[in-house]
Amino acid sequence: MDPRVVEAMQPYFTDFYGNASSLNSFGFKAKEALEKSRETIAEFMNAEASELIFTGSATEANNLVLKGHAFKEGKSKCHIAVSSVDHDCVLLSAKWLKRQGFKITILPVDKYGFLDLDALEKTLEENVTLVSVVHGNNEIGTIQPIEEITRVCHEHGALFHTDAVQSFGKLAIDVRKIKIDFMTINGHKLYGPKGVGALFKRKGRELDTLIHGGGHEFGLRSGTENIPAIVGFAKAVELREGEMEAEARHLTNMRNKLIKATLEIEETYLNGHRTKRLTNNTNFRFSYIEGEAVVLSLGSEGIAASSGSACSSKSAEPSHVLLAIGLKPEEARGSLRISIGKYNTEEDIDYIIQVLPKIVKRLRAMSPLKD
Ligand SMILES: *Cc1c(COP(=O)(O)O)cnc(C)c1O
Repeated sequence: MDPRVVEAMQPYFTDFYGNASSLNSFGFKAKEALEKSRETIAEFMNAEASELIFTGSATEANNLVLKGHAFKEGKSKCHIAVSSVDHDCVLLSAKWLKRQGFKITILPVDKYGFLDLDALEKTLEENVTLVSVVHGNNEIGTIQPIEEITRVCHEHGALFHTDAVQSFGKLAIDVRKIKIDFMTINGHKLYGPKGVGALFKRKGRELDTLIHGGGHEFGLRSGTENIPAIVGFAKAVELREGEMEAEARHLTNMRNKLIKATLEIEETYLNGHRTKRLTNNTNFRFSYIEGEAVVLSLGSEGIAASSGSACSSKSAEPSHVLLAIGLKPEEARGSLRISIGKYNTEEDIDYIIQVLPKIVKRLRAMSPLKD
């Protein structure tokens, strides 16, 4: 977290600990912080405050939009299409809905992870009610052309939702200009706190709630609001305003340097697109060795990396994103993701560049796949 975010949150644990629903001075103070935070975040995407629903995570916001839409439309009408490279919280929600009897289509992508627009158009002819496509991919960094996708969806009468967790705060997103219907974001991917997310829901769009109770968050997400986390989320978003551009240049330079140097290792490939990718993301594939072995070796050199997505690291299954872009299971298992952030320096990159080739060489020397 950005220290300024921690600082902004602090008083809401101690001095202003009220419940935003209480009709006393402590409650008013909390309510004021809640609504000011809502305005700050809404403004950053050019939405109205009343179009932002706070949730406990992006996972929850994605569940809310898919299931909330399905329940609102009903089985006879609902048809949801999701991309094959979306986060598990979208894909597994869609698959669960399918088991409940809702119509679900999973849309293919090309070798870079871009949505197959022909397949989208074809599917849209089957009365699709909602399309959900991740904006910036959390594993391979691919940035989808959401403006074009939104337009195509609307031409066919379908609503469009994007999971913009990875892109929000890195790329400028104007929901009035792009006319997105729903958008998911969260705190901890932009130097804010974990355990807080939000769903942008355009005025007039309807969803059923998944969590019934006191009717908080416009009746869509009952439960006492987590004021410190929401205040921290808003502070993190506010800080993006002044930092986004310079940071993008800094990260892009470091990312490109890391990609260039790593691809000099023989039989090494880049997953995702060389340039149309998130500024902070790299994802490589090394023949003959397991990505996880590289992750562990990097770890012992003080470098924190990852093979698939952070959430699925405990499962032995290869990443569904890497399979969706056409990799064989053994190729997917040979993949490594290194993400960078604003606190990384040029020296960090130089260090990785120095350490990584040696690790790959050592692991390959032990590999039964390489003779
Ligand atoms: C991290 C992430 C999520 C899940 O966010 P949580 O707030 O941890 O639930 C969803 N989608 C994408 C693209 C992500 O990167």
